[in-house]
Amino acid sequence: MSALGDQIKQRLAAGGAISVERFMELALADPQYGYYMTRDPLGTEGDFTTAPEISQMFGELIGLWAAEVWTSMGRPNPVRVIELGPGRGTLMSDALRAARVVPEFRAALDVTLIETSPPLAQMQYDALLTAGAPIAWRGAFAEAPEGPAIILANEFLDALPIRQYERRGGQWRERVVRLDSAGEFVFDLADKPEPYLNTEADEGAVIEVGAVAHRFMFDLAARLAKQGGAALFLDYGHAISGFGDTLQALRAHTPVSPLSEPGECDITAHVDFAAMARSARAAGATVHGPIDQGDFLRALGIDVRARALGERSPGRASEIDTARRRLVGKGENEMGALFKAMAVANRAIPAPPGFQPSPAKPA
Ligand code: SAH
Repeated sequence: MSALGDQIKQRLAAGGAISVERFMELALADPQYGYYMTRDPLGTEGDFTTAPEISQMFGELIGLWAAEVWTSMGRPNPVRVIELGPGRGTLMSDALRAARVVPEFRAALDVTLIETSPPLAQMQYDALLTAGAPIAWRGAFAEAPEGPAIILANEFLDALPIRQYERRGGQWRERVVRLDSAGEFVFDLADKPEPYLNTEADEGAVIEVGAVAHRFMFDLAARLAKQGGAALFLDYGHAISGFGDTLQALRAHTPVSPLSEPGECDITAHVDFAAMARSARAAGATVHGPIDQGDFLRALGIDVRARALGERSPGRASEIDTARRRLVGKGENEMGALFKAMAVANRAIPAPPGFQPSPAKPA
């Protein structure tokens, strides 16, 4: 068992239980042993791969997206460009390079990276050393500088801990983690039912509540409503709220039990975009989407960009097209439909690129 697993077991040895939310929070973010605190989880050597690591086109298109949103905001100077959970810094590096085609935007932007992981912050620093933009790091979104902002987040929301409730005997109980008689982690249900949950559902149904994400989204949307700007969230998840246990863990690109080796595997949950949209609207912002990532990237011109890159380096054309297909394709093992794009924006801003209704087809 991992060091963190042993530590949690000691706490539970006297017969206690912790919520799934707390277990996930410790597994990912324990200051000493948390998964993100101790490593770079990305890439073929790591546990999972993300869109910006698949192709430079992803970050480049988002950089151009940001430049257009800046124009529609009335070209504020300075404009805060804030990225949540920037991983290796690849998305920001590609975005800043692409944004060079709009020099006034490049000159106005001031970048803040929100990162809790020391090793990843170091990788971001190295990746962005020559980016030619002012960049600062903060550990929490609330610490980002004020003012009109363009906020970017790829695979950030799925890393925030969720609560789960299960329907048993006509009542909802929170799912918890305990030790079984052999001293191993098992899922169980809280002793007391939840008096305020009264949704009808079948025996054994599970609902998930991203309370941390809700609060986060509310604060972010309130800031955009007050200070101006827009945010782009890309993540895997569902557009319509539903029932079901979506907690999952990956180690070396292979699914494992979320209870195995806490701190050593990546634990995530599907993002409930409908719930996120409700939080954002409640805080006074407008929501665009969610739409499929494939449709979003196509609307931004990924097909044209892939062809242009392929023509410039014919030796890499098929590799470029394979990456393009992985990002936009809607088949199994492709990200185009599993991943969604959603924008949260100040009401004064028109629908951002990619979220505009497509022009009516000529009759
Ligand atoms: N956006 C990157 C990385 C995704 S992995 C990419 O697409 O490649 C999730 C990222 O979120 C990591 O950088 C992780 O360290 C960061 N993270 C996780 N929880 C966080 C939190 N509560 N606050 C800030 N960053 C967090």
